[in-house]
Amino acid sequence: MLGRRIGSHWSIAVYPTLLAAGCVVGQFVTWWPPVFALVRPLGVVVLVALLLQFMLSRALGAAQGSYLAALAVVAAVDLRIAAVVLAIGALGVAWTSVRRRRPSAPDWSGLTRFLNFVGIATVGSLVLSVGLATVGLPSSATPPRPATAGPFDAPDIYLVLLDGYPRADTLKSARGFDNSEFLEEADRLGFDLAERAHSNYNRTGLTLASFLNAAPIDDLMPNPPGGIVAQNRWLSSLISRASAVQVARQLGYEFVHLPTDVAYLTPWSADRLIDAGQLSAFEYQVMANGLLTEHPTYSMIPLFRADHAQRILGTFEALEGLAQEASAGPRLVFAHVMAPHHPIVFRRDGTAVTVDDCYWEDCNLAEPLSESLKADVVEQIEFTSTLVLNTARTIIDASPGSVVVFFSDHGFRHWLGDGSETFRSLLLAHTPDHPSLFPATSTPVNVIPRILNAYLGTTQPLADESFWATTAGAESYFPLRTFTTEPSP
Ligand SMILES: [Zn+2]
Repeated sequence: MLGRRIGSHWSIAVYPTLLAAGCVVGQFVTWWPPVFALVRPLGVVVLVALLLQFMLSRALGAAQGSYLAALAVVAAVDLRIAAVVLAIGALGVAWTSVRRRRPSAPDWSGLTRFLNFVGIATVGSLVLSVGLATVGLPSSATPPRPATAGPFDAPDIYLVLLDGYPRADTLKSARGFDNSEFLEEADRLGFDLAERAHSNYNRTGLTLASFLNAAPIDDLMPNPPGGIVAQNRWLSSLISRASAVQVARQLGYEFVHLPTDVAYLTPWSADRLIDAGQLSAFEYQVMANGLLTEHPTYSMIPLFRADHAQRILGTFEALEGLAQEASAGPRLVFAHVMAPHHPIVFRRDGTAVTVDDCYWEDCNLAEPLSESLKADVVEQIEFTSTLVLNTARTIIDASPGSVVVFFSDHGFRHWLGDGSETFRSLLLAHTPDHPSLFPATSTPVNVIPRILNAYLGTTQPLADESFWATTAGAESYFPLRTFTTEPSP
């Protein structure tokens, strides 16, 4: 009796949910985004699996409906796992057919028990590997914010990272574009331009970790792990720790972040994350091996591009909304905008565009760029500049005392084909009562200490503003090469 009862429990199909979850967690342990990025795709896939299993079980019977539900959900996200499920089903058919010496349906309850076992083993081993791989990471824990609000007259601080915005001199020499109209309008709004601003690193993750901790990567990661995925996990922890921001939080600032789609670049421990809900890069990756993939038809890419453009527009809108909302205490707002970085999705006037050479993240950007691609790149820069000026006007109108810095993390290119272009970056600063707070050669690493020292009277030391180049290729950031002067072309 007891044996039969346990046996019947084992025949309840839990594997559609487990295998669907396993596909998502399998991608998680491949790319290791921070855990927050896992929640939504995992929830959606599990919910879809449960719903489909419920509906198909009612239509076809429990065992058959469950099998078809598992196959459909798994095929949507990972065709390789779907092939395994299909093969197990085929083996089930072969097994019963050989035993009965005629073509026969599989032993459904046996098949269900076996797939349950496969599902439990898959999820179990993935959970174990998550646990083991989490040991030894640098802590991303941040101290709690004091209950009292910040100093009454402390200004709101807006730091807006425009990914890949080139410096005016290389924009002129490499793209033939004169950006002075934008810079003059920014000047009229009260922004100072750091004319020889440069980045400290040629890769975004390194710049962000260094900027948010106001320290060079060599100090933050003296013994970096091997391999780009492990290194990104470390950078992600450091980005979320954001120790330079903690100084402001301890003085009563609320830390507000507006993220890109790339989860490991997101300081997820911020007091407030303003994410309008567009797809994350991890969600693209979850879909990349299944029927929802962009390959070979590229059918999803127009949707992804529209979603990407919407996130950029939404970030500027949210910045304006923040400036206009009432707030109990001062805010340090950090927005990371994936513009004017490729893919090219905007014309000069903000209308949508599809550029064949630069369709998605796999843009063909081999230099020299064609004249038409150069023009497309410039148009996206011009539209980004329009968004910047509109947002700057709204913030300054709403609260003239606000500190506002627009800066970039590198020039047009990440790689060192042209060392000086790579490092030359943008830095425009609106710093009321503290003119020329940023010297002409400013870099991201000292942006936060310079502001806090000037406005809040802190005495944080400034970091070395050298250039560090990752030259190891796509598989690792390390070793970093140091230049005390601008790398030559
Ligand atoms: Zn970047």
